[in-house]
Amino acid sequence: MATIGFIGLGNMGGPMARNLVKAGHVVRGTDVASQAVTVFAQAGGQAAANVAAAVQGAEIVVTMLPAGSHVREVYTGAGGVLALCGKGTLLIDCSTIDVATARDVAAKASEAGCEMLDAPVSGGTAGAEAGTLTFMVGGDASAFARAEPLLRVMGKNVLHAGDSGTGQAAKICNNLMLGIQMIATCEGFLLAEKLGLDAQKLFDISSKSSGQSWSMTTYCPVPGPVPTSPANRDYKPGFTAAMMLKDLKLAADAAQSAGAVSPLGALAQSLYGLYVAGGHGQADFSGIIRMLAGR
Ligand code: NAD
Repeated sequence: MATIGFIGLGNMGGPMARNLVKAGHVVRGTDVASQAVTVFAQAGGQAAANVAAAVQGAEIVVTMLPAGSHVREVYTGAGGVLALCGKGTLLIDCSTIDVATARDVAAKASEAGCEMLDAPVSGGTAGAEAGTLTFMVGGDASAFARAEPLLRVMGKNVLHAGDSGTGQAAKICNNLMLGIQMIATCEGFLLAEKLGLDAQKLFDISSKSSGQSWSMTTYCPVPGPVPTSPANRDYKPGFTAAMMLKDLKLAADAAQSAGAVSPLGALAQSLYGLYVAGGHGQADFSGIIRMLAGR
């Protein structure tokens, strides 16, 4: 069993860290929000007052932070992970961030004598709770082999995408497709309503036809057909519209710097931008159906 420093005990990191505790690891968790640390300690984790207390003596450090700026600060800032951890520590960043920051921080980790992986996830808070996340991992094969048993405690699918940064590339491409696909699914259900086609009937037919998608069969944006989808709980997240907007911005930046075209990605970004600007950033991203319906 390993001693693990876990930084960022939010909606995703909290349940991920708890699953490591349940598996018998010694987990020292920290977060700038003290309430998150208290909840973690109540679940059997060790409360660490700060990054230093979480990291010192840990064989593995896992981070689950909001964005690239937080990751850069937590690893490379004064009193950050790289200044505190011992040589040979395995560093795993599970946050969704831009490829350039992931590669830069990993290079600095290497200079400090540590192996670092970018390992963003798919599967949302339900997957984090259930330990069924999908991990998309970028970094050396040796570091991946070291991390895999630990990631399997928190996830069902653990996939090596390639060198440093490719885990983030996979996540960004995946969520670009998801954002576009959700809007397409919303449009289909809204058109059905106008044409007098029952939503359940569209679901029954289209989920077995070529319009089928995850946005329909797992996360259906209208109430009814998929009882566990956020549409049945007034679009309480799940995965917030603000997070989807963040990921579409990451995709747009990545497309621009790589010289790739993504016209539908740009449109999806502007629609999610409007939805978030309308005060719905904390609603589930499938709630965009209400804006598209003019409700
Ligand atoms: P969250 O805001 O709930 O959690 C982030 C946590 O990091 C917060 O508790 C915050 O207080 C803490 N934090 C911020 N700066 C810190 C610092 N300097 N030191 C210590 N703690 C700090 O966000 P989340 O939903 O858990 O998402 C985390 C990451 O996972 C994001 O990058 C997100 O894009 C990604 N993600 C989220 C989901 C989802 O469904 N929520 C799904 C897949 C990926």
